[in-house]
Amino acid sequence: MVQQNNGPDFSLLRNDFPMLDKSMHGKPLIYFDTAATAQKPSAVIDAVNNFYKNAYGTVHRAVYELSVYATQQYQETRKKVAALLNAKSPEEIIYTRGTTESINLVAYSFGKAFINPGDEILITELEHHSNIVPWQILCEDRKAVLKVVPINDQGELIMDEFSKLLTKKTKLVAVAHTSNALGTVNPIKEIISAAHQKGAKVLVDGAQAAPHRPIDVQDLDADFYVFSGHKFYGPTGIGILYGKADLLNQMPPYQGGGDMIEKVTFEKTTYNVLPMKFEAGTPMIAEVIGLGAAVDYIEKIGLGFIHSYEQELLQHATQAISGVNGLHIIGNAKEKEAIISFHVDGLHPLDLGTMLDLRGVAIRTGHLCAQPVMRHFNISATARISLAFYNTKEEIDTFIAALNDVIKMLR
Ligand code: PMP
Repeated sequence: MVQQNNGPDFSLLRNDFPMLDKSMHGKPLIYFDTAATAQKPSAVIDAVNNFYKNAYGTVHRAVYELSVYATQQYQETRKKVAALLNAKSPEEIIYTRGTTESINLVAYSFGKAFINPGDEILITELEHHSNIVPWQILCEDRKAVLKVVPINDQGELIMDEFSKLLTKKTKLVAVAHTSNALGTVNPIKEIISAAHQKGAKVLVDGAQAAPHRPIDVQDLDADFYVFSGHKFYGPTGIGILYGKADLLNQMPPYQGGGDMIEKVTFEKTTYNVLPMKFEAGTPMIAEVIGLGAAVDYIEKIGLGFIHSYEQELLQHATQAISGVNGLHIIGNAKEKEAIISFHVDGLHPLDLGTMLDLRGVAIRTGHLCAQPVMRHFNISATARISLAFYNTKEEIDTFIAALNDVIKMLR
């Protein structure tokens, strides 16, 4: 990486990602689906490969060299993630399989400890299904009530409605930091502060935020903050649950078995301390090590620089795409990450996606796991581009030319 005074040279960083060199249907790949999953830098691929090839062993359970090494690497990632999020301590970082599992863990364990009949859980209209369904299951189980903060037609939360829906009955607010369907960045610091004044806890779904901007859980005062490794340029199958230690300590385990125990007898089992209490079974060791390499790689670039550059890309793409005839951007929030959903008059997003693929451009189409958002805008599906620091303005221009071409053909 070449470090310049005003940040790294992003056009060179692109070379760190072997997949970005590939062709699709004979055209250079333009990868515009990072919100679904990010491509991996060689540093991550090599770390996983090296572990399996040269250093593979289990964690925690053995005294031999390989296991000691694996355990050390496994715990190093925890420290790196704690530093990344500015958690007070690594014990507040729990490994899960992804954002979805992190939310399900909190819904189950926090729910069991703290949610009673008549209590309220507040979510929003722009949530991903992973931050809706676990709360529905919990509410059904505990006879609690799910309330939903609506959005306006710009795709922003209506904060007056939030204030009205937030009451003494609200036990938990679960909200996305950034919407995967609209790109909207929510005012989570304000939400957390208001929730705390009413005595409610807050879970922030950071799946679309943590890889794109610096996060400080202490400054936010978030009770839970969750994200996925695979969207953070790391491997699939590894996710993070940050939780305040005093809350995690009051919550029962999510799954039983493996290292989550302290002592097992048939009469009674006692549980391990944090974070192991929530990590049952042989964990995803290679994935954790790969995530550690991803955190190192991203921290070396700097999330502040990444955020500024991605905002430039967003501005360029928004301006360029706005000039496409008959195209409407869905979600025009004042603050957005580099995600643009759109539809084109008279054309189905699926056709657009299929035709763009033939031109080497990978975009996402469908309901984006956010059917309530689709319902708000009265559509069943959308097309979406989502950008990362490895994308370029030239790619955006090539995409716009391809899109114009496809629209002409389909009309
Ligand atoms: N929340 C948001 C905002 C997301 O974008 C996603 C992934 N699209 C998820 C949750 C679920 O993440 P995962 O599939 O990695 O568990």
